[in-house]
Amino acid sequence: MTIFKTFEYDCDFCVVGGGLAGTIAALSAARSGAKVVLIQDRPMLGGNSSSEIRMWVRGAKGAFNRETGILAEFEEENIYRNPNLAPTVWDSVLYGKIKENENITLILNASCMDAECEMGTINSITAWQLTTYTYQKIRAKIFADCSGDSILAPLTGAKHTVGREAKTKFNETIGPDIADRKTMGMSCLIQARETDHAVKFIPPTWANVYKTDEDFAINPSEAGSFADTRDHKIGTSGCNLWWMELGGDTENPIENTEETRDELLKVAFGIWDHIKNYGDHGCENWELEWVGFLPGKRESVRYIGDHVLTQNDIESAGHFDDVVAYGGWPMDDHNPKGIKGNSKKDASTTYYPAPSPYGIPYRCLYSVNIKNLFFAGRNISATHAAMSSTRVMATCSLLGQAMGTAAGICVREKILPRDINNGYIPYLQKKLMDDGVFLPYKLREISELTKSAKLNISDADREVLFNGIERPRTKAGENAISFDNGDELVFEFQEAKEIGTLRIQFDLDYGHKSVSPNKKMTWFAQKLHQGLDFEHVKVAQTIVKDFEVFADGKKIFETNNNYYSFVKIPINLKASEIRIKFNETHGAEKVNIFACDFI
Ligand SMILES: Cc1cc2nc3c(=O)[nH]c(=O)nc-3n(C[C@H](O)[C@H](O)[C@H](O)COP(=O)(O)OP(=O)(O)OC[C@H]3O[C@@H](n4cnc5c(N)ncnc54)[C@H](O)[C@@H]3O)c2cc1C
Repeated sequence: MTIFKTFEYDCDFCVVGGGLAGTIAALSAARSGAKVVLIQDRPMLGGNSSSEIRMWVRGAKGAFNRETGILAEFEEENIYRNPNLAPTVWDSVLYGKIKENENITLILNASCMDAECEMGTINSITAWQLTTYTYQKIRAKIFADCSGDSILAPLTGAKHTVGREAKTKFNETIGPDIADRKTMGMSCLIQARETDHAVKFIPPTWANVYKTDEDFAINPSEAGSFADTRDHKIGTSGCNLWWMELGGDTENPIENTEETRDELLKVAFGIWDHIKNYGDHGCENWELEWVGFLPGKRESVRYIGDHVLTQNDIESAGHFDDVVAYGGWPMDDHNPKGIKGNSKKDASTTYYPAPSPYGIPYRCLYSVNIKNLFFAGRNISATHAAMSSTRVMATCSLLGQAMGTAAGICVREKILPRDINNGYIPYLQKKLMDDGVFLPYKLREISELTKSAKLNISDADREVLFNGIERPRTKAGENAISFDNGDELVFEFQEAKEIGTLRIQFDLDYGHKSVSPNKKMTWFAQKLHQGLDFEHVKVAQTIVKDFEVFADGKKIFETNNNYYSFVKIPINLKASEIRIKFNETHGAEKVNIFACDFI
């Protein structure tokens, strides 16, 4: 008997863990109409990208492989509202996107610690909420574990694995000859700020002492790659000290988290002490602004799904019929010894090339033995080698959107995750692409309604507009049709037609050149060490700020403050002509449109 109250909830879909994967999964399911409960054990969403950890979001290499969909929407909201990129304002962007959706109940500060599971089906989960001393019990039809640490695996008996497979198990070349439980470790990051005067640093007595680079780095003459030198050049576009890493060689990476955190704090303060007090690192005017007390976790428990993604799947570019997401970061296999490794063999990480993009199949996103359990994020069904690539957060975000969209279908059709394979994959793929997600090897189908219209553009432009690829292929601007500010795109139908939703893919400035001059922001705009030369980010100049939509001459939509690169506008009326007038971009001379059609 407990003296503490239990609050109970019934919903369609319950997501445990509000990192980027879980947050995006919850939002995409809710937008598909499902009633969702999202449980997160921290005060804010975002996981490793949140203000508590501040890891920068990375994804597929190559400017035109940038991840779109909900992740781009979050980033664009952040760029608009948070030009200084304050980490806690980024938290508020994620919080706001979830709170403003009426289909989602967000339960923060609540840690899932129990589950009722019968005959391979989860009936409910229970979480302990730290701030209210109450239990939160959630019954749902479908559950998703996006906790990174896979809390529902021990609680439900879902099949899972920890550590590195032997090379022979999946015929991989990355990994040990004999399987082990070693993982990629954790890090407590730090952030620094430049001032206009000299700043002293007094280290805590318990910090590690690193008098010379050799005390923590591999001798630069032995170093095989930049990763080995443990780069600590602080500056606006400098390193984020990701290599301050420990905890990968412990038997149980989860149980050892607190102990590892203590060691990581000694490392973090010790490295800053080294930068400030041992030798000239060009940081006389820099001060320590923030230290992460919550270790960011790279790897712990991975689920087993109907397919286990392997190194070979990645290297062969993932040509799966059920492709629902993609990666493109190299296989980035960190040394379990972390910063303790100090011989030439102990590179902090080893990069193995991966094609960008490569496809990831749907079958990696649900449990092989628990019928109503999905997962997304760093715990998907993948080998250690494959996960060393899929774990980056922009990839996790795409996995979250794919899984959440699939969960929405499951709820609507009253089916289980595995049943999606019985004829629903094309619909899932179409829905993702309709929602602005790019899928490798897939062309988006343009609706018959759209194709039946006469357009005021050349046949060549019409072909580009409807070619099903909504991003540049080899150079900026390519694969788009261009207008001048003030031009119109007109769709004329032979007779009045029921028009549903208008969708437009603007140019999001894939290389982010107009977003920030900072090279690190070509990936994702997020706070870095802040030098005096730090420049606020700006909405991509290529995004159309001011546009209007007319149906049979009557204005039905207008905005003079759009900052999203992908928009969906409900039309929901009968019309024989739709006109879109592009009045003004955020600064670009031309309006580039990659897609404009009706669904
Ligand atoms: C130091 C470091 C450097 C990295 N470098 C990069 C990089 O440069 N770029 C990049 O993109 N990725 C990087 N990664 C990898 C990336 O951050 C992770 O793989 C990614 O965050 C995984 O996303 P996720 O949503 O699965 O999990 P997470 O971001 O870990 O989010 C999971 C959330 O679930 C919550 N949770 C856990 N247990 C429970 C529970 N029982 N109940 C409720 N909630 C729970 C957690 O608090 C967390 O907020 C790095 C990771 C680390 C640690």
